[in-house]
Amino acid sequence: MMLPSWYRSLADHALAGEAPDDAVCEQILSDPSVNLLQLIDAAFEVRNHHWGRKVRLHVLNNAANGRCPEDCSYCSQAKSSDVDIEEYPMKSADEILAEAELAHRNGAFRYCLVMSGRGPSAARTREIASVVRQIKASFPLEVCVSAGLLDDAKAAVLADAGLDRLNHNLNTAEERYGDICTTHTYQDRIATLGAARRHGIETCSGLIAGMGEEPAELVEIAKTLRSLGTESIPINFLLPFEGNPVGEPVHLTPDYCLRVLCLFRFVNPSAEIRIAAGREYHLRSMEALSLYPANSLFLDGYLNAPGSSTERTLQMITDAGFEIDADQSAGDLLAAASATSSAVPSPASSAVPGAELVTVRSGSRLKTLDELRPARTRR
Ligand code: SF4
Repeated sequence: MMLPSWYRSLADHALAGEAPDDAVCEQILSDPSVNLLQLIDAAFEVRNHHWGRKVRLHVLNNAANGRCPEDCSYCSQAKSSDVDIEEYPMKSADEILAEAELAHRNGAFRYCLVMSGRGPSAARTREIASVVRQIKASFPLEVCVSAGLLDDAKAAVLADAGLDRLNHNLNTAEERYGDICTTHTYQDRIATLGAARRHGIETCSGLIAGMGEEPAELVEIAKTLRSLGTESIPINFLLPFEGNPVGEPVHLTPDYCLRVLCLFRFVNPSAEIRIAAGREYHLRSMEALSLYPANSLFLDGYLNAPGSSTERTLQMITDAGFEIDADQSAGDLLAAASATSSAVPSPASSAVPGAELVTVRSGSRLKTLDELRPARTRR
């Protein structure tokens, strides 16, 4: 077993802004003599220093689904995927604004507009910028856009609209990038992040664990994101969907997922570390422990996969003694979520207690059109 001083040293270095060396990083991920609870305790000390007990809720809007000419092997929207998703072109500004209102009502800190495709045209970029302006003028939400590859001119248009953050995930290590995508490169992704940064937009960039990468490759991603000064790091754990070329997730036990979250907290001490897709599926009964290294999560599911209900996620956060970073109290948010869930049964739930988790655990369910476009279907 590791001595208490080993965990103390991890926390002290991170609090001083220093990253652990590669050998220690690999121990965090793979050494069975590293005790998980002591590791989480040390990671929490770092998280608590930078973020207190606050949890930021992010709500994704899948604003244009599918029909993508790229071949990212993990993505249900890729041309190479046979997953039977509900495809649609970009939602109207009215629809996006109505969904932003719902997100704000549910306690969102940040609203993440995601559009499939290699990258937006100049006209599409102006359209996105107009929507960003309208959201910022209407709701106290931070806005993040994920729209594919961008150059400096397009980043400038989004910056001018007041965009807070641009998301573009590295997804995997540089050496492995060609195994998961052949239609663009790792360097294309780095260049997009650089364009955002040059125009004063914060960057959000993360990964998908479970695609066959080695622990050393996860360490490389964590350190690359550190070197890029990435403010926000979403950590996805691969969800299995029949029809995605990437195949089944590899090595993702709850213990390993928690170690990954701790690793990213130690290497990127002040970053907003987000437990993203796969939270429910891979962490299972250990899910609440993810809040100790991570300070942010996605509320209400992912791009094409449902997650836990809003009510269950809010309850988990408050049960674990964390606070929701919102302009409404946790009690009010929970009461509203509870009223909504009893009025409108979610397709992810059923009359059988625990069935929601079983359904999500199956990994096979996709979001329905009602879940993807809640504002449109209410009209
Ligand atoms: S570019 Fe984006 S939407 Fe297109 S396949 Fe890759 S991840 Fe999916």
